[in-house]
Amino acid sequence: MDEAEFCRLWHLFQEVIDGNKEYLNSLDAAIGDADHGTNMARGMEKAVAACDQPEGGLRVTAKAIAMAMLSTVGGASGALWGSGLLKFAAAIPEAVACSDREFAGAVDAFVSSIRDRGKANLGDKTMVDVFLPARDRLIAGVEAGEALPAIAEVLAEATAAWALETKDLIALKGRAAYLGERSRGHVDPGAFSSSLWFLSLSRALAERSG
Ligand SMILES: [Mg+2]
Repeated sequence: MDEAEFCRLWHLFQEVIDGNKEYLNSLDAAIGDADHGTNMARGMEKAVAACDQPEGGLRVTAKAIAMAMLSTVGGASGALWGSGLLKFAAAIPEAVACSDREFAGAVDAFVSSIRDRGKANLGDKTMVDVFLPARDRLIAGVEAGEALPAIAEVLAEATAAWALETKDLIALKGRAAYLGERSRGHVDPGAFSSSLWFLSLSRALAERSG
């Protein structure tokens, strides 16, 4: 992945978050405080501005996006995305391009961070329900020699399904956990926005060959 693709990913994520802002707010209204779409959209607006700076390499760009999210998104999502992206930045090369293996390693660092910080396990109805299996599929695909755009295309579809599957779960972490059984029947907003990141990744890489 090169820096242009990396920035394209964030620009596409900003667009799709903005397009789903009200939907994300409505998901959060059911089990939280109705601001997930607004918060993420505000953060993405600042994050893409970080991408529009002169080329500084993948690490510098990822760190700028992390700081933008930490300072603007707020709540649990801001802390999880922001601190996760700082770990992502530390793991990605400083260069203007990285190998698929290095990209997968950086995603792995992101996922380890959100798990350490959020203490969520698979099935707790959080963004981990999307990112953890996606991380595993990404690493397995790279190890098997699959092309990253092809892996991303699979992940776009799979993560959308995993996000929707959180509807049947009872929240065990985050604000929604206070609702207990009443959290069932609603898609987790953090899981849904996470699936949009993989959709954006797929779209960014689809442009590589097309
Ligand atoms: Mg909220």
